[in-house]
Amino acid sequence: MLTEVQRQLDRLGLSADSPPSVEEWRAFLAALDTSSPPTETLASWHHQAVENSPGPLFVMNREGRVRGGNLAFLTLFGRGSPGRHYESLCPPAEAARLTELITRVFEGEVLEGISVEFHLPDGTPRFMLAHLYPSRGGDGRIDGCILACTDVTERHRKAEALEERYRSYETILNAVPAPLAVFDRQQRYLFCNPSAIANDEIRAWVIGRDDFEYCAHRGFSPTLAQKRREQFEAAVRQRGPIFWEEHFTLPDGSVRHMLRCLNPVFSAGGELDLAIGYGLDITDRKQALEELAGLNRELETVNRRLRHDALHDALTGLPNRTLLRDRLEQALTRVRETTGPSFAVLFLDTDRFKMINDSLGHPAGDALLVALAGRLQAELRPTDTVSRLGGDEFTLLLEPLEEASYAREVAERIGAALRQPFVVQGHELLVSASIGLVLGDPGYESATAVLRDADIAMYRAKARGGAGYQEFTPEMRERAVGRISLERDLRRAVRQRELRVLYQPIVALNSRRMVGFEALVRWQHPVQGLLPPSAFIELAEETGLILDLDRWVLREACAQMLAWRRPGEVPLGLCVNFSGRHFAAPDVYSSLAQVLDELGFEPRALKLELTEGVLLQHSQTIGETLARIRELGVGLSIDDFGTGYSSLGYLQSYPVDTLKIDRSFINRMLGSEESAELVRTIITMAKNLRLRVVAEGIEFPAQLERLRALGCDYVQGYLLSRPLSAADVPAYLNRERAARPGELLQPG
Ligand code: C2E
Ligand code: MG
Ligand code: MG
Repeated sequence: MLTEVQRQLDRLGLSADSPPSVEEWRAFLAALDTSSPPTETLASWHHQAVENSPGPLFVMNREGRVRGGNLAFLTLFGRGSPGRHYESLCPPAEAARLTELITRVFEGEVLEGISVEFHLPDGTPRFMLAHLYPSRGGDGRIDGCILACTDVTERHRKAEALEERYRSYETILNAVPAPLAVFDRQQRYLFCNPSAIANDEIRAWVIGRDDFEYCAHRGFSPTLAQKRREQFEAAVRQRGPIFWEEHFTLPDGSVRHMLRCLNPVFSAGGELDLAIGYGLDITDRKQALEELAGLNRELETVNRRLRHDALHDALTGLPNRTLLRDRLEQALTRVRETTGPSFAVLFLDTDRFKMINDSLGHPAGDALLVALAGRLQAELRPTDTVSRLGGDEFTLLLEPLEEASYAREVAERIGAALRQPFVVQGHELLVSASIGLVLGDPGYESATAVLRDADIAMYRAKARGGAGYQEFTPEMRERAVGRISLERDLRRAVRQRELRVLYQPIVALNSRRMVGFEALVRWQHPVQGLLPPSAFIELAEETGLILDLDRWVLREACAQMLAWRRPGEVPLGLCVNFSGRHFAAPDVYSSLAQVLDELGFEPRALKLELTEGVLLQHSQTIGETLARIRELGVGLSIDDFGTGYSSLGYLQSYPVDTLKIDRSFINRMLGSEESAELVRTIITMAKNLRLRVVAEGIEFPAQLERLRALGCDYVQGYLLSRPLSAADVPAYLNRERAARPGELLQPG
């Protein structure tokens, strides 16, 4: 029989471990063949099943006293327990709860799976899972409450231990100073530490909720929750940890940046169990990085500025020498490597820029340079480069260059553009420039070589009077090379007395009386011998050495003239050539006066010869300087008259007293009536202006006769005397004295 009960129990899946529910009992009973066995047998089966059930089972009456229990119950609670009140079987708090439950059972309720804590007679606690259901008497009325229990003490202990362990883990996780949260498979919060959510209330509230609810609660953007959901799904998909960065704004307005990691945890069966999320606050690092990026940007700007400044001219903003050199090198490389178009370089130097700077001041000079740069740029194509090399020098790189004629055209166009006056600080300024032109050639070894040749050509243009361009030829280079050593030598010559003065007599045409000398400089070069002015005057002009040279000639000649003079004799006249550059220098008057004063030379006996160019500058300062020199008593003579652009008219506005007709007219006057006519006109007009006229370069007696007929006052030339060395002058003077006794004593 017992085995039959056991078999039925097994068939219904009921184990002796868990107490059968009412329904299970019913099913159990129905399953038994109730028709055949007699009631007593059935009762006996009942009895045995209950008696042998391993779970304690007992029945209480309405008063709560134990009416009876099965073997398991009696074994646990003692044979004497029937008759005892159930309150004595459990702790007081549990008893109170049980009272309420038992009441409900007496009202007909069936309660399943209720946890109840009992204590055994010796006080040890026992945890039971109990089903409570009513027992009915023969009349069907409830006369008792059955408690069928399963002893789950062991399970309970395990759960408690587990909970304890969980709590200690929780304590640890709560102490972790990084945000940490555990999510279930629906991404709902299972756990979250205070670093993740500091507020205790919210931290408790969030458990069981997901991020959408949490973000809404905190006022964070739903996109943040959306992003986290996507990362969650991605982590699950890839079955491994996923990292991402996120940021959000806190209620106080501050922005937090987080590095997040979500690590899904899978069960042994491969199912997603939970996911652990943790984060790292990278706000400070992010800020530091941003600051660094800002600093980098600033550095980059400064670097760009520095790079720009290093390659551009501060005043005009044009590329500077370095950048030009670089572009020129590139152009050279292209020309060498391809047979394509070439390039050209124009080297431009403003004429008389120093004068503008000196007279109007540097700010005006600067403004002029800026305006000039603008005009140069306007004449070029976008591929060409204008650069400023410093001072008043500009270089134009024309590239590509299909035709050499384009470079010449540009040079001319610039000349024309500069002819329009510049208006600077209310002054109308006329500017011209000397331009050297070099055509690109694969033979050039470097940019330096190209610039050197352009510079040489520019100097040629300047030497030819400026205001124009000169194309470079190799012959110029040879000259220039010679020029450099000549310049060095000339500096030494002025210092080391290698200069000599020759004296060429000037004679009154009518009386044939010698009235004075023109001082003409020579250079006793240690290697090249005696050099005429044509070999070095131009160079002295360009380098400024002419100022020292002229002053030396003046002092030397004056001293000589005084040395040759005999007591009582009328002072002979002395003509000294003076470069136009003196008259731009502010101290010309005082240094002249000083020399005369020191030597005791009569200003009246001195005449300065200047060329027309000086007067052509139309400068007010030059006019004033000339007037002061004239007031001192020193005469002023216009040399080489007729070779410049001068008209006789403008001589009126300057305090000039003598005019020297250039040798070339005297030369031609015998052969050409036109030249003779010109000489006649010059003499007539000079007379009208009360100027004395000197004709130079007289070589033939016929010239002398012709000039006498035209009324010329004085003559000078090889016919009368070649320039004499200082050593030869005393003898010449003696001859003069002998030929015309007493005449030198007569005032002229
Ligand atoms: P210049 O002032 O017109 O001087 C006259 C030049 O004509 C001198 O040449 C002289 O030797 C030359 N000459 C005189 N009579 C005749 C002649 O009958 N036939 C020919 N063929 N030539 C004659 P030089 O001495 O070679 O001087 C050339 C120029 O150099 C001068 O022309 C003057 O402009 C300049 N120069 C000479 N000495 C000085 C100086 O100390 N300072 C400055 N700044 N220039 C000077
Ligand atoms: Mg002269
Ligand atoms: Mg002359």
